[in-house]
Amino acid sequence: MAAIEKRSRKDLQEMDKSHHLHPFTDHKALHAQRSRIISRAEGVYIYEASGQKILDGMSGLWCVNAGYGQQEIIDAATEQMKELPYYNSFFQCSHPPAIELASLLKELSQPHLNRVFFAGSGSESNDTIIRMVRTYWDLMGQPGRHTIISRHNAYHGSTVAAASLSGMKAMHKQSGLPIPGIVHVDQPYWYGSDQSLSPDEFGLQAARSIEAKIKEVGAEKVAAFIGEPIQGAGGVIVPPATYWPEVQRICDEYGILLISDEVITGFGRLGEWFGADYFSIRPDFMPFAKGVTSGYLPLGGVYVSDRVADVLIDKGGEFFHGYTYSGHPASCAVALANLKLIRREKLVARIRDDIGPYLQKKWLALADHPLVGDTRIVGLMGAFELVKKKSPIERFDEKQRAGVIFRDHLLDAGVCMRAVGDTIICAPPFILSHSEADEMMNATWKALDLTKVDLAR
Ligand SMILES: *Cc1c(COP(=O)(O)O)cnc(C)c1O
Repeated sequence: MAAIEKRSRKDLQEMDKSHHLHPFTDHKALHAQRSRIISRAEGVYIYEASGQKILDGMSGLWCVNAGYGQQEIIDAATEQMKELPYYNSFFQCSHPPAIELASLLKELSQPHLNRVFFAGSGSESNDTIIRMVRTYWDLMGQPGRHTIISRHNAYHGSTVAAASLSGMKAMHKQSGLPIPGIVHVDQPYWYGSDQSLSPDEFGLQAARSIEAKIKEVGAEKVAAFIGEPIQGAGGVIVPPATYWPEVQRICDEYGILLISDEVITGFGRLGEWFGADYFSIRPDFMPFAKGVTSGYLPLGGVYVSDRVADVLIDKGGEFFHGYTYSGHPASCAVALANLKLIRREKLVARIRDDIGPYLQKKWLALADHPLVGDTRIVGLMGAFELVKKKSPIERFDEKQRAGVIFRDHLLDAGVCMRAVGDTIICAPPFILSHSEADEMMNATWKALDLTKVDLAR
């Protein structure tokens, strides 16, 4: 018997309204419109219960990198569930999928990142890192080093600790966050600055706000710095080229642990296996999730450098932390199938050498549209900003909801992207073909024109 009943779209929407609370959702606004019911997907397309076919320009939520319907990933889950659907890795136990995956992950990363701790999500991975960072400094005889520096407008997840690491004002306000010991500095968002500095000068200045914060807090109290190589949820903020080398210098100079949050940038999105590779930094931790399984099952984890792992192992005794689903066998099997597919099909090199540059050319050309103020894209991670006037920059009034108007026109035209305020962001699956990229960009131009008409009213 099927686990999921066949029901009409209308019934589903009614039941959804009555019983289902959604993440990051204003329910009153949702109930005024009803949910979009996504009922199936194939390749780069999702299908609404109404029958509408939509090109998924966001890979779900930055995760379905291999695209939908990949049979070998589905088979890996089925086979593993038959063999061993669950067992834990507490109490001196382990199992083949977790062992195989940890070893494969090691092969894909930098040589000093030899060990992986598994979690169920990106948020849990970042919670794990806070525990590990503080434990590390305790073991190093510096228990005063517990402060972690993050950035405004960062996104590191939504548990209490991960939301604290995040730099989202609205999230902090709702629940009295951040928790103690987490402080925030400037983001490297040149286009959003007054642009009095060149991007390179601005990148250095943004990095040096970390140094200023270290001096303010006291270097002997600062444990770590966390950043997304490119901020994702904050609006695909690509830092100037000077930024990450300077952050690395500062972390080295003060002995501070560097955390590269690779939940979006990990496993190929930028045309390198990791954002840390793209920007040539040497992180002490890399949290990952999303793309590791292409979203087919939930899995997160943390790469732990030798510097930290050796201390935790040699001096730490028991580390009192873990999740029931740390290294879930089916999730690990799915991750293995997914990463092997990405590696075999050379999808990362394809982003660097083929579809990345192909999309980039068309993406940057959006700047010719009268509504588009800034365009930026690295690999298959892009954004553009809707503005009222380009020079000097004049933005639309928030109440005009320019981003939402554009996003809705784009959906009508059969393509899904996200609006972060008036910044439109895009992160399509790695298998995007040239003609699908054309389709995405044609719909974008069309939706921009319609948005212009609406906003002129
Ligand atoms: C999505 C995201 C997270 C949180 O991952 P979840 O699996 O939603 O908990 C953490 N960091 C970054 C950079 C993310 O984009």
